[in-house]
Amino acid sequence: MLTANEIRSQFLDFFKSKGHEIVPSAPIVVKNDPTLLFTNAGMNQFKDFFLGNGTPSNTRIADTQKCLRVSGKHNDLEEVGVDTYHHTMFEMLGNWSFGDYFKKEAIEWSWELLTEVYKIPKDKLYVTVFQGDAAENLPMDEEAYNYWKQYVAEDRILMGNKKDNFWEMGDTGPCGPCSEIHVDCRTEEEKALVPGAKLVNADHPQVIEIWNNVFMQFNRQKDGSLVTLPAQHVDTGMGLERLVRVLQGKQSNYDTDLFTGTIAAIEQMTGKKYGYTDSKQDVAFRVLSDHIRAIGFTIADGQLPSNTGAGYVIRRILRRAVRYYYSYLDFKHPLLYKLMAVLAKQFEDVFPELHKQLDLVTKVVKEEEDAFLRTLEKGLRRMDTLMADKNTSGTVIGGEKAFELHDTYGFPIDLTVLIAGEKGYAVDQPGFEEELKKQKTRSRAATALDTHDWIVVRDAATVNFVGYTDLEAEGNVLKYRKVTSKGKDLYQFVLDTTPFYAESGGQVGDTGEFVFPNESIQIIDTKKEDGLTIHFSEVLPDSVTGPVLAKVDAGKRANTEVHHSGTHLLHAALREVLGTHVAQKGSLVNDNNLRFDFSHFAKVTDEEVAQIEKIVNTKIRENVPVAIKEMTKDEAIAMGAMALFGEKYGNTVRVVVMDPNYSIELCGGTHVGSTGQLGFFKIISEGAVAAGVRRMEAVSGVAAERFMNEQLALLDSIGAQLKNNKDPLKAIEKLQEEKVKLEAHIEHLEARQLVGVRNELLTKDEIINEITFVGQIVNVSSADALKKLCLDLKNHLNDLVVVLCANIDGKPFVAVGVDEKVNAARGLDASKIIKENVAALIKGGGGGQKTLATAGGQDITNLQQVIDNVRAIL
Ligand code: ATP
Ligand code: MG
Repeated sequence: MLTANEIRSQFLDFFKSKGHEIVPSAPIVVKNDPTLLFTNAGMNQFKDFFLGNGTPSNTRIADTQKCLRVSGKHNDLEEVGVDTYHHTMFEMLGNWSFGDYFKKEAIEWSWELLTEVYKIPKDKLYVTVFQGDAAENLPMDEEAYNYWKQYVAEDRILMGNKKDNFWEMGDTGPCGPCSEIHVDCRTEEEKALVPGAKLVNADHPQVIEIWNNVFMQFNRQKDGSLVTLPAQHVDTGMGLERLVRVLQGKQSNYDTDLFTGTIAAIEQMTGKKYGYTDSKQDVAFRVLSDHIRAIGFTIADGQLPSNTGAGYVIRRILRRAVRYYYSYLDFKHPLLYKLMAVLAKQFEDVFPELHKQLDLVTKVVKEEEDAFLRTLEKGLRRMDTLMADKNTSGTVIGGEKAFELHDTYGFPIDLTVLIAGEKGYAVDQPGFEEELKKQKTRSRAATALDTHDWIVVRDAATVNFVGYTDLEAEGNVLKYRKVTSKGKDLYQFVLDTTPFYAESGGQVGDTGEFVFPNESIQIIDTKKEDGLTIHFSEVLPDSVTGPVLAKVDAGKRANTEVHHSGTHLLHAALREVLGTHVAQKGSLVNDNNLRFDFSHFAKVTDEEVAQIEKIVNTKIRENVPVAIKEMTKDEAIAMGAMALFGEKYGNTVRVVVMDPNYSIELCGGTHVGSTGQLGFFKIISEGAVAAGVRRMEAVSGVAAERFMNEQLALLDSIGAQLKNNKDPLKAIEKLQEEKVKLEAHIEHLEARQLVGVRNELLTKDEIINEITFVGQIVNVSSADALKKLCLDLKNHLNDLVVVLCANIDGKPFVAVGVDEKVNAARGLDASKIIKENVAALIKGGGGGQKTLATAGGQDITNLQQVIDNVRAIL
């Protein structure tokens, strides 16, 4: 039986033999693309080529791509684990033609690979062809049909509608008809009962789609219309997990060697057995062994779990996994983090990024699990209170409450229903759905983005970025469009030549000005999308046809470059001082400061910080020239450049060197000419962002000067306040000494004052039912003094019950004392009195012993009532 690794290699070897270049998988986490959080298909990394915004290194490419389908247009999350062939993260094997071969070769080769290399019996296969769509004015794909006919019996070529046989990446963008290949894995008896053709695209778990060949012909516009692409392309995708399951003759993807290793590890940890059924327990096994792949590979590609965006998607996947082992495997401790090592080993040769960062990923996952398990516990307690609450109507938990559990504690509705059910409670599910809908509407309104079509002004083959050397350039508008977000209009422009740096690699986008013949407009930001540099403005000029002078805000750019070069110097110093395990995990560079996230497992001590600063400042004073070169990726690595995980690199990379023995980094950003331009470097904060990830903020150049001046000004004003500008430290020490003396003095005075108050109280006792009662509102300065008074009175009076109240800085305080004998003989209990007769009246609470208890509260108006109440119970 072929292993999954052999099957993957055979695919790549096959397409290599057909002239394809084999490229690495792009990161699963997508950066610099506002339309996508995660790679959801093999073609994503080639999107620019389909749109005509760039040219590939080769017109034939093949690879295996890490994909994730849990958000956006493709979302399979709820299927995962419930069925046996949809995953969160999966590998998509793909081959591409960029304006090279088209339907003929794509069809021929896919058939050859499946039936001759992999030797899948032809009578197990069905293919589908686009049947056309009248509403879209699209004809049937006869071309594809005719090519298939050469290999496949006609009763195995099925017609498919737009939903199944017309592939679209998103609401807009490249698309076209497709041909799918399906495999019927049922037994002969089953096949005799129902013909396979009836089950294709019918969600049958044994008749599944494995490969989709998309013939990219059109570009979908915003108004829904289709425009023919300038060149025609092939884009195919075959799920490795499904292919392996067919070739290994299994009933489920989870029975292949891609999953059995982690399933066995889960069995061992939980002491439960995987039973191959649809029971919740077996679903849990599948969910876990699936989800850890998504969690592990996204974190290894640099995305940490968080509360927004891509980080939130990962957090949700992780929580789904925790809920499953918590609820259905009856396991209440972190578990996923232990599976990372198994997974890392399994993929060591295919996707080494996980293996290389195993410590970090394990730590991050463990911390997330711990945190969520605590939340779950809290949620369970919240449910208990809800069910005990007399306001809960009968035995139904209201929709709003269920929503609160979902929103605040991450309790999905089915878990709430399950737990409530165990205690005989029902949940108002329609009410919950209603709340959920309200929330969705709220968040949709908050993020709604309306992107209009590009208006093309003129065509140009390439877009020229000159911003590494020039801050001003003459150019022309190629196209522009309107984008409406939260009711505000913005305009986006693409130029044929631009000096504006588009936000990437942590460096913010340039701002500046476009000067047209008759007017100029402010550019407020620059970003990349689909390989284009997009300039943002709040205004649309009257005419965009004339030449435009694009001017970058030079001051802001210069200060930003200082911080970008400072980031490289910092990175190298961190590795020198803390160790080479330090790897960049995130970075932000702007004109005011820099922020750098990196893997490291302990707090960076003050001494280390000082050492790091010293190294960086030394490098600044050495005034090292910054050398920037383009080279191949392999040359760069050979030179010793630090490669970042989760970055997408082209064939040539840009290498930034500040002293070949000190810092060599792959970087597309802009930099100073030599390090002396930084002037001075200062770290202003250090802290944790996640388990195993630290964050530093630093300033350099003018920003550092400003920072130091602010600090010195602060010191000056402290000196002025202390009336000792020369030596404020000494003045503070003196103040502290004086404070200690004054405190001792006050304590002495208070003790004497308390004696006076006590003597007066001794004259105010009443005898009630043979008990000596003292109840008074007194004037003291602390709760502690009130307590002391109570004790003191107990020492002076027999058979005493005492209640003292005080208003201390506007807040009520009450102390109750009960003589030991009275407590024993009459059952009077100070702490019970506080809870039952006092707390509510002062809107507060407290407690203590049977013979002495105290309370504090919010309501000062009922102190006399407190005394009367206690008197009444005697
Ligand atoms: P399905 O209808 O089965 O969800 P799809 O139409 O969404 O598949 P495509 O978008 O055409 O699939 O993706 C190409 C191939 O990727 C599929 O033929 C399948 O083998 C694989 N694939 C798609 N989604 C998943 C998933 N969630 N898990 C595993 N493999 C998948
Ligand atoms: Mg799908």
